Amino acid sequence: MFEKLGIHHQSAKALPELKGKVKFNEMMSHHTRFGVGGPADIYFEPADEKDLATFLQHIDVPVTVLGAGSNVLIRDGGLVGAVVHLPKNFGGLSRQGNSIICGAGIPNADLARFALQNELSGFEFLAGIPGTVGGALRMNAGAYGFEIKDIMESVRVMDAKGAIQEIKTDEAFLSYRNNAMPDDWIFLGATLKGTPKKADEIAAKMAELKQLRESRQPVWAKTCGSTFKNVMDVPAWKLIEQAGCRGLRRGGAVVSEKHCNFLINDDHATAEDLEQLGMEVQKRVLDACGIQLEWEVKRLGQKKK
Ligand SMILES: Cc1cc2nc3c(=O)[nH]c(=O)nc-3n(C[C@H](O)[C@H](O)[C@H](O)COP(=O)(O)OP(=O)(O)OC[C@H]3O[C@@H](n4cnc5c(N)ncnc54)[C@H](O)[C@@H]3O)c2cc1C
Repeated sequence: MFEKLGIHHQSAKALPELKGKVKFNEMMSHHTRFGVGGPADIYFEPADEKDLATFLQHIDVPVTVLGAGSNVLIRDGGLVGAVVHLPKNFGGLSRQGNSIICGAGIPNADLARFALQNELSGFEFLAGIPGTVGGALRMNAGAYGFEIKDIMESVRVMDAKGAIQEIKTDEAFLSYRNNAMPDDWIFLGATLKGTPKKADEIAAKMAELKQLRESRQPVWAKTCGSTFKNVMDVPAWKLIEQAGCRGLRRGGAVVSEKHCNFLINDDHATAEDLEQLGMEVQKRVLDACGIQLEWEVKRLGQKKK
C-alpha cells in the first residue's frame, strides 16, 4: 500500500483495519488557516485512543500531528508520511470538581464556553485563540498575561509506539510559546483547573478580551496570528514596524497593516510566498534593529520541486 502511495520506506507495513477516517494524498491547504500546504501521503482522524495506538503501531513513516492548522505554515510540496488530526469529539469534555477534563481535539472556544457554562474562571483567554486544545498545549498558547500552563494540572500523552502516560504540570516544562516535551508525543487531552466565579463576570472578561483582540488583529483573515515570537519584553510587531515592513508584499502574501506581526494570505499566496515574506521581514529587522526574530509559526514539510 505504501509503495502505491509513493512511500518507499523499507519497513513500511500495510495499514490495519481502522475505525477512523483515512485519506490519501490529502491537500493540507484544506486544513490550514493560511489555506496553503501541499499533500500529505496519509491523513488519519482516529476514532479513539485505541484506534490511534493501532495506527501508530502499524506505520513506520514520519508522523505530523495537526490541530486546526492555525499556527502552521505547511510548504507547497506537502508532508511525507502521515498526518494525524484528532477530531473535535476526541476525548470529550467533562467537569470534575473545579477542573475540566478535555480531549485534545476540542476547539479552545468550545472549552472556554463550557467553562463559562460551569461558572469556572481561568479559561477566558482561550476563547479568542483559534485552534484546538492539543495545539494550545504544544504551543503553550497564551494571551493578555495568561498561558495554558497556568491552568494545567496534567496532560495525557501518547508516544510514537502508542503507549499512554499522564504527565503532571511540574514535569511538563512549558515556557513562552514552547513545550519541551518530546516532539513525537501526541497530546490526547488535559486536566485544567478552574476557579469558581459568577457566569456574568466570566462573560464580561471574555467580551473585554474579544473587543481588545478584534480592535488590534485581523482576526478573520487567512493568517496564523503572530508570526514571530516577542524578544524578551519587546513585542515583535514593534521591531517589524521599526524596520518598515508594514504592508510589505511577496506574491499573494502581505504583512498585515492592522497588526504587522501577522502575515496574511491575501490573494492566492503560496506557502513559498508566505515563507519568503517572513524571511524578508527577518532580514529587514536584523538590518534595522540588530535582532534575529524567531518564528513562532511552525514551518513544516517540503518545498515544491
Ligand atoms: C487570528 C489568530 C490569532 C491568534 N492569537 C493567538 C494568541 O493570542 N496566542 C497564541 O498563543 N496563539 C495565537 N494564535 C496561534 C494559534 O491559534 C495557536 O498557536 C493555537 O494554539 C494553535 O492550535 P492548533 O490546534 O491550530 O494547532 P496547529 O496549528 O494545528 O499546530 C500547532 C503545533 O501544535 C502541534 N499539535 C497540534 N495538535 C497537537 C496534539 N494533539 N499533540 C501534539 N502536537 C500537536 C502541531 O504539530 C504544531 O507543531 C493565533 C492564530 C490566529 C489565526
